[in-house]
Amino acid sequence: MACYRSEAIVLRTWDLGEADKALTLYTKDEGKIRAAGRGARRMRSRLLAVCQPFVHGRYLFFRGRGMDSLAQGELINSYRQLREELDRMAAAAYLAELVDVLVEERDPQEELFRLLLDSFDFMVEHGPTDLLLRFFELQLMNLLGYRPRLADCAVCGTRQYVDPQFSAVKGGLLCGSCAREDPAALKISPGAWESLRCLLEGRITLVGRLRPSPTVASELGKVLRQYVDYRLARPLKSLEFLQTLQR
Ligand SMILES: [Zn+2]
Repeated sequence: MACYRSEAIVLRTWDLGEADKALTLYTKDEGKIRAAGRGARRMRSRLLAVCQPFVHGRYLFFRGRGMDSLAQGELINSYRQLREELDRMAAAAYLAELVDVLVEERDPQEELFRLLLDSFDFMVEHGPTDLLLRFFELQLMNLLGYRPRLADCAVCGTRQYVDPQFSAVKGGLLCGSCAREDPAALKISPGAWESLRCLLEGRITLVGRLRPSPTVASELGKVLRQYVDYRLARPLKSLEFLQTLQR
């Protein structure tokens, strides 16, 4: 039977049969995959610790017809803090679900793997800040090929803006006259526009340094919510939970 090894991050787990666990993982070498951990729910299973959500480990898989099987796993980082505190858990589940639903299987992108790890590290250290979630949403969209156009109008290409708006449908900023083409476009202030550009171009270390005003933070939340939701076939389960906590 063919097998392969890869570093991976567990995105989601669910129960399978009496004692097994099914997992969605984002592997460094093969991208998103699904695998079954046989007996992983037994207390003495060696797979128990490496089949928890958000774990980063080194795994050995056997290729299967439907789902692959998880043969071995070794912890690199358990990310225990992301499972033990409610706000961190809700945010980590949101990031993981975004990857789970938006990313195709077997389409490895090392940058995406890195983005997940960096974001988990950030959350362990600083908590799940709103700005981190915005950074992740924007970077994920970029990696999936949906880089928003922020330097010129996404319809006519002008750089002369009066009252620009942001349109998920058109994929970026719209000048005042093109804004009519998307009734759902959102007004965007110069501060929010600048923050979007920084978050798109910057690295994760920037997230700890940017201090948007509450108004700008709320604009960023709305704009990116609309931008991400436009690509989703159904509402995210984790988002409702996250929003309940934030209220
Ligand atoms: Zn225009």
